[in-house]
Parts: sequence; C-alpha cells; structure tokens
Amino acid sequence: MTAPVAHGDDARLADVAVPAPLPRALTYVVPDALAGDVTAGRRVVCTLGSRRVVGVVMDVRRGEPPTRAKPVLEVLDGASLPDGLVSFLARLSSYYLAPIGEVVKLALPPLDRETVRAVTEPTLFSMERGERGVAPRKVQWVEAVEDGAVPEGADGVGKLRANALKLLTEIRTRGPLPLARLEETHGGARATVKRLEGSGLVRVAEREAPRDPFFAEPAPREEAPEPTGAQRDALAAIDEALSASAATTFLLHGVTGSGKTEVYLRAIARARELGKSSVMLVPEIALTPQLVARFRARFGDEVAVLHSGLTPRERYEMWQKLRTGAVDVAIGARSALFAPLESPGLIIVDEEHDPSFKQEEGVRYHARDMAIFRAHMGAGVCILGTATPSLESEQLVRSGKATRLSLPGRAREQELPPVEIVDLRRIGPGPSGDKRISLFLHRALEQTLAAGEQSILFLNRRGFAPSVRCEGCGEIRSCPQCSVALTHHKVRGGRLRCHYCEHEEPLPERCPKCHRGELTLEGLGTEKLEETLAATFPTARIARLDRDVASGKNVERVLSRVRAREVDILVGTQMVTKGHDLPFVTLVGVVNADAALSIPDFRAAERTFHLLVQVAGRAGRGDRKGRVLVQTYDPEHHAVRFAAKHDVEGFLERELVDRRELGYPPFSRLVLVRVDALDEGLARVAATQLADAARSRAVGSGVEVRGPAAAPIAKVRNRFRYRVLLRSASREGLRSVSLAVHAAMGALPSTVRVSLDVDPVGAL
Ligand code: ADP
Ligand code: ZN
Repeated sequence: MTAPVAHGDDARLADVAVPAPLPRALTYVVPDALAGDVTAGRRVVCTLGSRRVVGVVMDVRRGEPPTRAKPVLEVLDGASLPDGLVSFLARLSSYYLAPIGEVVKLALPPLDRETVRAVTEPTLFSMERGERGVAPRKVQWVEAVEDGAVPEGADGVGKLRANALKLLTEIRTRGPLPLARLEETHGGARATVKRLEGSGLVRVAEREAPRDPFFAEPAPREEAPEPTGAQRDALAAIDEALSASAATTFLLHGVTGSGKTEVYLRAIARARELGKSSVMLVPEIALTPQLVARFRARFGDEVAVLHSGLTPRERYEMWQKLRTGAVDVAIGARSALFAPLESPGLIIVDEEHDPSFKQEEGVRYHARDMAIFRAHMGAGVCILGTATPSLESEQLVRSGKATRLSLPGRAREQELPPVEIVDLRRIGPGPSGDKRISLFLHRALEQTLAAGEQSILFLNRRGFAPSVRCEGCGEIRSCPQCSVALTHHKVRGGRLRCHYCEHEEPLPERCPKCHRGELTLEGLGTEKLEETLAATFPTARIARLDRDVASGKNVERVLSRVRAREVDILVGTQMVTKGHDLPFVTLVGVVNADAALSIPDFRAAERTFHLLVQVAGRAGRGDRKGRVLVQTYDPEHHAVRFAAKHDVEGFLERELVDRRELGYPPFSRLVLVRVDALDEGLARVAATQLADAARSRAVGSGVEVRGPAAAPIAKVRNRFRYRVLLRSASREGLRSVSLAVHAAMGALPSTVRVSLDVDPVGAL
C-alpha cells in the first residue's frame, strides 16, 4: 500500500463519489502506478469502511492527503463520464444537498454486471427504478437469397427493375433488414418485397425485434414544411444564441399544434450544423413512436432514443454512441438530462410545465431547472416549450431571465374548440341515472356517436369505486398500512386495492369491522365509468386507458385502435390528456374538474388549469370541429374559467397575483423536509428536532420555518410521515438553514428516514 505520509503535502489525490449517503466526494490517494489512468469521470475501485466499492472520480488534484487516506485500488475500463457531465453532477449534488454517490448513479450506464458484481454491490449500476423488461416481439425481416439471379427480359420485369433493384441492392449491401424499416424509405416496399420473394431473390423471415418499442415504427414520409412567420422569428432568435454560444433560455409558448416540434427539429438541425450536440427531454408519456418517428424521419439513425423499454445492453450501446460522439442528438424522458455528452449546445424541454420532470424518489431533482443549469454551464441554449407555461417559467420571462418566443394559433389554421362548462349543481343526470354523466354530456356523446366521430372522457380516478363504506357503522375501508381509502377494482370477483402500496384484499361481503353492515361503493372510477357507458350506449365501442390496463406498449396499442377508428369512446386518466394526435376525436368530456382542485397543494389551481387546457386540446385535431364539456361543482374557480376561454395569459396573470400575495413560488423558494419512521412518536420527535435546528439557524435570516406537521397522507406503508417546510425569498438564507437541517439529520437514529426536497412539487 502507498504510504500517504511519504508524499507530504504534494500527493496526487482523487476526490471520488462513492456509493454512500455522503454529501461530498471522499478523498483517496492515487498510487504512482495508476497516476496516468485516474482522471475525472473514470470509475475506480476503492475501499469504504471494510467494503470495496466502485466510485467515480470527480476531481484529481495535488495536495496534502487527509489523515488515514486510503489509496485508489484499481481503475476500471469502459464507461468514463465526460468532464462537463462530471462538473454538472457536482453542481446538482450541491444544489439539492443530495449524496454525490447517488447523483453519479443517475449518469452511469448499466454495465456488465459480472465485472461489477465481483467488486461491489450491484446497486450502483442497477437499472433505473420502474423499468420493466418488455417481452420480445416478432417482426418480419427481409434477407437476400444467396446467388439469386435477377431475371432478365421476362414480362413485367421492367417494372420490377425500377424500384425493386434499388431495394434489392440495399438488402444485399446492408444485410438483412426489417420490412418496416424498408417501408420507411421505399414507397410500396411491402409489395416490392413480395415480388422479389416470388422471384426467389429475397426471403422474408420472422425474427425477434430489437427490444425497442420504437424500432419498427414507420416514419411519415414528410418533407420539412416551410416555416411560418412566427416559426421563422423564433428560429432566428434561437440561431443567434446558438451561433454566439450565448447561455440563453427561451420560453417557446404556443398551443398544441402550433408548430413547436417543428421549431425543435430545425433548432437541433442548426445546432448540428454548428457542431453542437442536443438533448430533448419529454414527459415519459409523451415519448411516443409518432414523435420518435418524426425525429427519425429528419435525422435518421443519428438520434439516441433513451426510453424505459431498452435492455441494459441496448442502453449501454446508446450510451457509448453518445459518449464517443457517434450520435449527437439524445431524446428521452427526464433521465436523458444525464446523456453522456461533454456539453450540450442545446437542451430542449418539451411540455416544460409537466410535473413528471420532477423526480420524486432518490435524488429529488427537477429536470427542467437542471436543464437550464446544464445548458448554461456550457454556454448553451435551453428551450422550454409549452402551451401552458409553468408559473416558474413565466416568471423567468417577466424577470428578464428568459426570452419569450410565441407561436400564435395552430400551424394548420384550426380553431381551438369551444369549451362549455357544465354546472353539476344545476344540471341533472342523463338517462344513465348517474349524475356524473350529466344530461348535457349524455347528449353530446349521443351526437358524436351519431356523427361517427370519437369522444374522450377524462376522469382522474382509476378503479371502479374510489371508496367502500359500511352502511351499518359508516366505516370507510382503508389500507391497513396507509392512511388512504381502498379502491374497489372489479377484477377477480372484486378486489380492494391501495394505490399507495401493494396491499390488496378481496371485497368482503359484510363490513369486517361491525360484521353486520352491507358495503356500498362510493365515488366513480374509470372502470365504473366504462361499465356505465357500455350499459347506456350498448352499440358504442368503448376502450379504457389507465395504469391498470395500460403499461408501456399497451398505451400505444390502445391509441392505435383509436386512430384506426375501432373505438368510439375512450375513457381514461391523465394518460388520455397528453400529446396524442387523434384526428377523429371531436368531443372531450372532463367528468369532474374539481378532483384536481381538492389536492392540498398550492399548485392545485395550476395543475387543474394545465390538465383542462391539455385535455381540451385533444378535441378537433383533424379537419372536423371539436367541442369540450367540463363538468364541475365549482364553475367560478379561476382555473376552470380561464381554461374554458383558452386564456393562458389571463390565468398566469391572476395566478401570479395569488402567488405573490401568499408568498409562494415563484416569489419564494421552498425546501420540504420529509421525515418518516415506523413509530409515530419517533417520527414526530425527529421532525421536531429538525424544525428546532432550522429555527435556531433561521433567526435573522429571513427564512420562515413551518411545522412539524403530519403529512397530508399521514401514513404510507406503515411509516408515519411528518413535514417541516422552509420558505424564503432568499436563496442564501434558505441554503444556510437547509445545511443546518442536514447537519442535524446526522444525529437522528438510523430508523428515521429524512430527505430534503429542494423546490418541492406537491407535499403528499
Ligand atoms: P406542436 O409541437 O406545437 O404541437 P407541431 O410541430 O407538431 O406542433 O405541428 C403541428 C402540425 O402542424 C404537425 O402536423 C406539423 O407537421 C404541422 N406543421 C408545423 N409547422 C408547419 C408549417 N410551417 N407549415 C405546415 N405545417 C406545419
Ligand atoms: Zn397501502
């Protein structure tokens, strides 16, 4: 072992991010033998306590080694993070007070498990949570038959020669290709392949598709349209910033269909001309094959699509392509923020208002905020695109930190659909008898069906009935592990499920508490809505889209049935509200706009507004006129009123006034301290200690400390949850108090879990 002392104050040191809940990298000594190999971004093996772990070198420097500093043991081959990414990770970790070892994990590709497992626990390199393998699927491949002779002179061959020879040459030179790929590039490829097959020149065989749901999606054969005036203006501003390498943020504001994606495509093309790489972040649910196909049609295979359907191997290959510069455009959900590019010249965040950009487990970062951060670190441009700006982004523009680019109207000159508000206090039920299918909604559905057009009904509750109550004792059946009501699902004879944990139980015949009462199902979930509609409109073809029926590829399957007009009424949760272009949908019904308003969160109005505008945008995407019905018990609420008028500016104006008066973001910053423990008393005491620590530091700092208070959902998975909220307009003050809380966390028993949520979204 290298004796650190021998180096005096001039040892070669490496700061290494190791897998431990530490706020900073640990310093190791670099033995002379490894001096050339230990560089920032490399993975190294070193000891942590009695374990050997893999870490990432954050920095290499010379200096006096800390007492008892240990040596770096080994440098691993393979993935090494680019310098620009390493500095970004360090800043992200510092901003969120998040363990650096956890933060670097976000950026590492899944690697050969074998090599890793030999030295460390596999968690450092495990896949992102929530990833599920997708069963392999068969697709048709076309391969050339060896020695197949091209027939000459025979009848009908002349026609074959023109396009078939081209196709055949391509297959012969490039090797076997999926039929769907050929269809993207050759008109009438399917028929041509059939003819070639008939002549014994090619063979069509079923093979396993790459495990990529976007693989065989044909690209629309569209030329890039000539930009509109507004698009041209937006692009000129973006071009100027890109060319000057001026760290700039743009808010690209335009309704769905106004041509934002077209601007992204051209901006990326421009960045490439300038030799700059680009990243585009989209909400997970908006990463559709249609969108990817548009990118593929423009950039071919020079786009890395990062999505949850990839196997670790495929993910690793994508990662390498970006790392080596073979590919310089990455598109994906929030984790694409960590694409291994040195310093992206352009980062686009589409649907920037979407709450899914906030990661709610592990490192709680906000991909939109960090996109700005990362772009600016490398003098790059960040474009935030949306139809309904978040209050944060709107305020960036108003305070001069971002530039607004507006795309008025839809690129294809369609009108926005009229929105009618249905006051559920006054309008009674239609023939179904359920007042949530009001007479107005019923008639609108009827008319749409009669016209042979499609409807979407949006309801924010999945399952059959959101709660089950005993008629006898009045008790609502709740989860034994969480303080929430169990939802009734009509599967396997009726099950009660918790939407916060995995708890599930059969629907009991009688109340398990008083053993007498009958149980009644209360409220309306998507399953019940689907059933009621089926009974009310027996000839209508109804489909449902929510997390229970649709995961991953299923979503696309349901949507393609809608696109093929095999569905008359689509019922669903959030999943029906985003980005899908469904040209035959002319009616959109919001079953209950109030559900999102009742969430205990200062962003409830903003969420509701976004949802309503988003879902209203689903109507009338094609050539036919659409209409939207919004049912509510609170028709005067400003979120409902402004959404009904499609008045985004009006809403922002009003909501900014409210936020300013109440001192909420974007006029202040928040840090939410989340505490939970199996023992309620322990959780409360711990939260109190942290609040006390915060208060003593907060004196004179302008930071307000609130709590501790029980969380809105006080218990989840048997853990009792408490919250302390820090609020201030001063970033420095808030940071100082947060650091005091962070320090006090160290004194808590290890059975108490604490996390600091900087810039929290939602308090549940
Ligand atoms: P957004 O991203 O704002 O929803 P898109 O870029 O997807 O809008 O544009 C909506 C539709 O209008 C797409 O079908 C697109 O091909 C078309 N489009 C966009 N820009 C133009 C243009 N300049 N001329 C003609 N059609 C356009
Ligand atoms: Zn539960």
